[in-house]
Amino acid sequence: PVVLGIETSCDETGVGVVAGTRLLAHQVASSMEQHVAFGGVIPEIAARAHVTEFIPTVRAALDEAGLSLDDVDALAVTAGPGLAGALMVGVSGAKALASAAGKPLYGINHLVAHVGVGFLDEALTAAGPKEGKQSPAEAERAGTLGALLVSGGHTEILKVRSLTHDVELLGSTIDDAAGEAYDKVARLIGAGYPGGPVIDRLAREGDPKAFRFPRGLSAPKFVGTAEEPGPRRHDWSFSGLKTAVARATEQFTSRGADVPVADVAASFQEAVADVITAKAVRACQEHGITHLLLGGGVAANSRLRELLGARCASAGITLTVPPPSLCTDNGAMVAALGAQLVAAGVAPSDPSFSADPSQPVTLVSV
Ligand code: ATP
Ligand code: MG
Ligand code: FE
Repeated sequence: PVVLGIETSCDETGVGVVAGTRLLAHQVASSMEQHVAFGGVIPEIAARAHVTEFIPTVRAALDEAGLSLDDVDALAVTAGPGLAGALMVGVSGAKALASAAGKPLYGINHLVAHVGVGFLDEALTAAGPKEGKQSPAEAERAGTLGALLVSGGHTEILKVRSLTHDVELLGSTIDDAAGEAYDKVARLIGAGYPGGPVIDRLAREGDPKAFRFPRGLSAPKFVGTAEEPGPRRHDWSFSGLKTAVARATEQFTSRGADVPVADVAASFQEAVADVITAKAVRACQEHGITHLLLGGGVAANSRLRELLGARCASAGITLTVPPPSLCTDNGAMVAALGAQLVAAGVAPSDPSFSADPSQPVTLVSV
């Protein structure tokens, strides 16, 4: 099926078109430039930017695909989770397009869409085609697919029993997302926003062993009790790490010394990559996951990719990392999941559905 997908959950207005597992168009307009001065995404500004960019981005995607709305079998839009105002622009726009064109519309889950992108042909050829390498779709059919999503808003590990019907959350962050921790630490060391790419670059010049920063929730004592469930076994926490980095930098600033920013960046990055990968691999081993799909903006991080690659290899886990432009938020992933929903015979959403800022991962489509 040919599906047009629309994503507006955060700062990217993304529109993609797919035909089955083939990517026909992939257009993204980001409002990031407008958020830089504030050091974070401002929901109101993001929502207004979606209003501005919605139609031009839809048009650009249809032009790129060489199609008109009449040629599309269905539309899909991110219903949640995400920023309420931002989501509402996409949902309202998608409803208007679908009803004007008389096409079915699927309100889908943003997190599951990050997994859906792994079912596109493009996701497999990122690092060059590998003979005999299992695809995420094959792993899903075998019941062994997992997904690790690491972005500015999310740090989550999922077990994907069925992409369209049965996704389970194994663990997530209990406070800051990994990308958020990058952004906060970047601010601490005066490295600008967004912090991920800058810290990644700085870290190359630094010593990852210069500071021993904490790996949150990695000790068994954090599992919780019956009265107080506490974090789950595979949850992460990054707020203690951020505090530890603040303490470490204060030791220098308080006596007027220069902060060794490269060492701080490298040691912070090492702590993040270590705890994300260690806990992800353990979750895979405990839940029969032998194929892990990586998604989210932090998937671009060089140390995370390197360490995850090494640890998955030694644990016998196949790792799939889609190209960076498909890892960050985009409409192609929404279209990709939409196409899988159509192919699986899932009914379109009732036209009365709304945006759900905290849509649970178990709700693949509304
Ligand atoms: P969502 O959480 O809904 O997916 P988002 O817009 O917050 O949305 P993305 O656009 O996927 O997330 O990713 C942005 C985040 O990725 C930012 O926090 C940014 O700092 C981080 N990031 C980007 N490149 C790198 C990198 N090389 N290393 C570490 N973090 C990075
Ligand atoms: Mg973003
Ligand atoms: Fe996302």
